[in-house]
Amino acid sequence: MLFIVAGCAAAGAQDLGNVNPQALPPVDPADPKISAKEIFGRKLTPFEGPAQAIGFYTSGCLVGGVALPINGKTWQVMRLSRNRNWGHPNIIKFLERFSEKAQAIGWNGLLVGDMAQPRGGPMRTGHLSHQVGLDADIWLSPMPAREFTRQEREVTMATNVVADDWKDVNPKIWSPTHIALLKAAATDPEVERVLVNPAIKKALCRDVKDDRSWLHKMRPVPGHNYHFHVRISCPPDSTTCKAQPATPNDEGCGKDLDAWFKKISKPSPPQPPKPDAKPIKPRIIPLSSLPPACRKLALTP
Ligand SMILES: [Zn+2]
Repeated sequence: MLFIVAGCAAAGAQDLGNVNPQALPPVDPADPKISAKEIFGRKLTPFEGPAQAIGFYTSGCLVGGVALPINGKTWQVMRLSRNRNWGHPNIIKFLERFSEKAQAIGWNGLLVGDMAQPRGGPMRTGHLSHQVGLDADIWLSPMPAREFTRQEREVTMATNVVADDWKDVNPKIWSPTHIALLKAAATDPEVERVLVNPAIKKALCRDVKDDRSWLHKMRPVPGHNYHFHVRISCPPDSTTCKAQPATPNDEGCGKDLDAWFKKISKPSPPQPPKPDAKPIKPRIIPLSSLPPACRKLALTP
């Protein structure tokens, strides 16, 4: 079930950015040996046209991408050096209305992490999904009462809400406002899934008392302890956007969730590398593996 584990990569610490990112050396997008992530990771501008999310969340691209302004009344964009604050107009509108709701429930405003690249597509670092402009990572720390500087946006760390043993949330940090925030995201009519760490899902299963109708949209995925990931549905007029299977109606608070914690309780000891081990080759995602319509976006400078 690739679509479930393919949210964001890595449970590790957050990546830091840099206010003066180095330009990448050019690549030839027509070279079949060049991975599509190297091509889409170098696109600095959107592909003009009526907005279309093309393909699937983990294999696609984006026409008519729009940048989320780096400062809104109710949000700020982080890690500007990554140039990943792009998306389909629907996710921009979602972030506008969700950030207002967040403020109304006492969350000062959103810190927005990675969305998509200007033309979507696979990324050189960090995510398997976020390719069609319908995904957004939102930090689990509220916006401060002032505007972050450019430098602060690259190096400020979000708050980890999960306990050190990964078995539950950190009770010193976790709050009813966190729950209200996640509920506001999950109950938005366009939101299909919200990806959170299994420990956060466990806390929701335990702590949400009245309306539990949204818990089935909260999907446990490793990582997602500094941020949560919101995925919205395919826009009806994006005719080649491939929808995900619907989430099961079941709350997801039973055996499947327990299974995550069984894995944690039996960590495998670190293995020394074998002396004859071959170095791991980076995975090549050929441009031909993306929907055919993405080719034009890749080949256009
Ligand atoms: Zn994500």
